[in-house]
Amino acid sequence: MEPTKPESKPAATHFIKSIIESDLASGRESTVVTRFPPEPNGYLHIGHAKSICLNFEVADEFGGRTHLRFDDTNPLKEDVEYVEAIKRDVKWLGFEWDGLFFASDYFDKMYERAVLLIRKGLAYVDEQSADRIRETRGTLTKPGTPSPFRDRSVEENLTQFEQMRAGAFKNGEKVLRAKIDMASPNINMRDPVIYRIVRAHHHNTGDKWCIYPMYAFAHPLEDAIEGVTHSICTLEFEDQRPFYDWVIRECETPAKPHQYEFAKLKLTDTVMGKRYLRLMVEENIVDGWDDPRMPTLSGVRRRGFTPEAIRAFCRETGVSKSAGIIDFGYLEHFVREDLKLKAPRTMAVIDPLKVVIVNYPEGQTELLEAENNTENESMGTRQIPFSREIYIEREDFMENPPPKYHRLYPGNEVRLKSAYFIKCEEVIKDAEGNVVELRCTYDPATKSGSGFNARKVKGTIHWVEASQAVPAEFRLFEPLFKKEAGASAAQGEAAEPAALPDEAELGLQEQEEAEENGTVDKSFLSQLNPGSLAVKMGFVEQNMQAAEPQDKFQFFRHGYFNVDSKYSTPGKPVFNRIVSLKSSFEV
Ligand code: ATP
Ligand code: MG
Repeated sequence: MEPTKPESKPAATHFIKSIIESDLASGRESTVVTRFPPEPNGYLHIGHAKSICLNFEVADEFGGRTHLRFDDTNPLKEDVEYVEAIKRDVKWLGFEWDGLFFASDYFDKMYERAVLLIRKGLAYVDEQSADRIRETRGTLTKPGTPSPFRDRSVEENLTQFEQMRAGAFKNGEKVLRAKIDMASPNINMRDPVIYRIVRAHHHNTGDKWCIYPMYAFAHPLEDAIEGVTHSICTLEFEDQRPFYDWVIRECETPAKPHQYEFAKLKLTDTVMGKRYLRLMVEENIVDGWDDPRMPTLSGVRRRGFTPEAIRAFCRETGVSKSAGIIDFGYLEHFVREDLKLKAPRTMAVIDPLKVVIVNYPEGQTELLEAENNTENESMGTRQIPFSREIYIEREDFMENPPPKYHRLYPGNEVRLKSAYFIKCEEVIKDAEGNVVELRCTYDPATKSGSGFNARKVKGTIHWVEASQAVPAEFRLFEPLFKKEAGASAAQGEAAEPAALPDEAELGLQEQEEAEENGTVDKSFLSQLNPGSLAVKMGFVEQNMQAAEPQDKFQFFRHGYFNVDSKYSTPGKPVFNRIVSLKSSFEV
């Protein structure tokens, strides 16, 4: 599949909005309640942002409510660290939940509903091993085999389930299964496991429970308990919908939520899926969950993406049943658009080369007026020092330039942005022949803003005054994975080692199993891009001394940069490149 280039017009409507409109019109629902239900087993990523925007914006549009619910039914992988991080990220995106809930607060109610199922003859305690249960589930073409424990009496099941709860059995010794149809064409309906024994400390309920409900059983009950009307999830849950409806019907919950599925957001050159991201954190491949190269919300925040840009991206990419893979550059496009008028424009020299202006008086410094944003006059001007010694970008000088090179070379004159014309008179080299300094002359008549137009130059270069320049570190990023990896995954080629794992293509069962036994296919790590981080030392303007973490700037020609919140210090700022100025993505 080719990366899709979405329409740049706002998505006027989408199928979920249409469903809500007709539910309200027909009176099937009188209000809209949605929820964002993350499992607190990792940090949120851009894919989650898609779901957050959808849930909050759709409810808001119809005057409804949105809950933030932690789907914390698996104590093995969950942690309060993640709960706090998720709350921070949702707020940062700009949303306020109308209620904060924990699925674990409903464990008593869920237990009661499981007991109700047993009483109705719709659930039984199975003593087969997990492997045996999987083997007897059957296939798409072969029905499942009923468990020898399937026809236990209600009384025996009640006693056994009570004993499971009381801790009488070892992990994995018994499970509770729904009793539905071992021959159902939908494998999810072949007596799915609804409770299992897990001895693990839960971040919320402590050691109160040693049995925990399975996600597929818990989720519809959570929705019903909270009065959710439209339970929006991603496509891998589509085959679960019959079981969702079965739970709502047979557990006799007063509220009757409905589930709707949309396609997961996929981006080029990246993996989403918390377990892959967690692996990269655990193996120290990245600098934590908030590494600026990570597609996590904390990562892109540290990199400098704005919530406004992410929301616009989520809105413009629409909601569909069959999404393609979206070019990461399309997200970057929204970041540029958002920062264009907001970020002050200043000068930074990333790879410095010293220039001495030989005819400028020694010991003199003057202040020049420079605009803060040529596209946004309201950002005003600032004063920048100019003196005999400055730094320019090493790539802005060539001793033997090719044709059409309009920057500095011996004998050529260029404009220093917001300052004067300078002409290269002499090149100083070290013993190895490396250029270490340029000697130039300047023409006082050419001062910026003076209206000088007696002659023109073709090149304008940026610079910073040397004596007051602030030494700075610049961190330049490329995708974490090699370009080809994303591309061939996008094209669905069978070229195995090149494909990045795609969470959206795993079934729910596969995901749950993988998560349960902690297995992660690590082969995607062979596709890491060794050049994803470049650290450079250079200089920024003297007035950047006051830059605070998360301040954003456009550095002339280099792109947009964000002050890093982890490594930046007042005397020695560290800048993360958010995006370069030019887009490879044409909108
Ligand atoms: P992951 O595989 O990254 O752990 P998940 O789906 O297991 O993702 P949850 O914490 O269970 O993550 O999900 C919270 C909500 O976010 C769910 O409704 C889920 O469907 C949605 N979501 C997760 N990934 C995406 C994505 N890439 N695009 C859209 N929605 C997503
Ligand atoms: Mg998950």
